[in-house]
Amino acid sequence: MAGATPIDLLVVTVDRRLLDQLIQLLVAPRSHGLKLLSCVQTWSTIGQQRTIVKHVRIRAAGNQPCWRAQVSRGIDTHVDMPQTEDSFGQATRAAVLGGTTTLIDFVPPMAPGQRLVEAVENRIAAINASAVIDVGVHPMLNRADDQVLTDIKTVIDLGCTSFKMFTTYPENLVTDGDAWRLMRAISDHGGLPGFHAENHTILGEAQRELVDQGRTGIADFAASRPALAETTAINTLCLLAKELGSPIWIFHVSGAAALRAVTDARAIGVEAYAETCTHYLTFDDTVFTGPEPWRYVLSPPIRSRADQAMLWDGVANGTVQAVGSDHNAYSLTTKRPTATDFRELPLGAPGVQIRTPMLWHQAVNVHGLSVGTFTEISAERAARALGMFPRKGAIRVGSDADLVLIDPTASWQGTDLEPSVDNSFDPYADEHGRGRPRHVLSRGHQIVRDGEFFAPQGGDRFLPRSPRS
Ligand SMILES: [Zn+2]
Repeated sequence: MAGATPIDLLVVTVDRRLLDQLIQLLVAPRSHGLKLLSCVQTWSTIGQQRTIVKHVRIRAAGNQPCWRAQVSRGIDTHVDMPQTEDSFGQATRAAVLGGTTTLIDFVPPMAPGQRLVEAVENRIAAINASAVIDVGVHPMLNRADDQVLTDIKTVIDLGCTSFKMFTTYPENLVTDGDAWRLMRAISDHGGLPGFHAENHTILGEAQRELVDQGRTGIADFAASRPALAETTAINTLCLLAKELGSPIWIFHVSGAAALRAVTDARAIGVEAYAETCTHYLTFDDTVFTGPEPWRYVLSPPIRSRADQAMLWDGVANGTVQAVGSDHNAYSLTTKRPTATDFRELPLGAPGVQIRTPMLWHQAVNVHGLSVGTFTEISAERAARALGMFPRKGAIRVGSDADLVLIDPTASWQGTDLEPSVDNSFDPYADEHGRGRPRHVLSRGHQIVRDGEFFAPQGGDRFLPRSPRS
């Protein structure tokens, strides 16, 4: 049959115009009388210049099977929209302009008397109404009554397979006994229990000591939430996981001690996952004595430079599975920048827009990690752990064609990235980096062209995920 022999193209470019031509080939192969069979991109250094290398396999149109490009990159595992002031439309637009193609949001804690199923269905409806990229959810659990235990199976069947529980914040915390009960129900049905792990009473004691000494300024914020609170919570929860034979996901691992607690649990046979966040990989605790320190008040706190180095080791050697933004898009009015007492500041900061460019810059340019390690930490490990693989996080036949083309030579400043809410603040405003997303395809449709939001793809964007087998 005419055209049956595939044609291989190798495109090596630092030229954005060539990238544009290539994207045309990707999104409209039929207009060229060609069918796209596969597309794999890598990067290499030629001379002094980092260069994009794309291997495209095409075939003349005929009766041959037509495969789309399968490239999945950019999964943000931690977007805290229940706490914040942006919509799914705004947050997902900011995310995709920054090269994030999938994010996992949360179902807000249940209101008194509200059923878990109702809370989850409301969240799915809100996502489908306005999100422009695929969004999954971790339901937050703040009760362990029989109704919740019954609903856990139902929401896992709906595709919400990972959960978040809190060991602090009095309005939502679960006791160790509740955690045990909920973990059993979740793991029995193939779900993944996850935790905000800071021991509430140790936080209370640390803060009492500081208050007694009159140390309530932002410079003392990190001391008010010591690593000891994280490690004691992680140790206890991992012992429960071991007893139950349950997997466990630890959200926002902030430093060396918490990561060691997770790896210690693995050493005794616990299937324990560690998520860290962009801010722990970017900043250290000197921000609390620098300009506008209120911008960095979030929890668990940003820790020392040595902690940050240990997290990068974990990214490089595979002990860290995911990097979330822990995006909390407060307006300036809510964040209260004039507050000088750390107890008056709401915890959290925005960051969904900068996660991928910052992770690329830090991983590839600063820490010298391979592009392969970047793609693993940016998407693949999280996709595997959170029931999205191989639909997400893989370049395969049958996977979603979520493709991010990064121009590795393009420089950026934090303020170049579009915020998701007006009148907000940006802890990354003064940061610089190199490597900027130029084109983004979501499920095969181009939605960012040359750095501009191009066209929202209609349709439901709630992303159901698979339970563990
Ligand atoms: Zn948390």
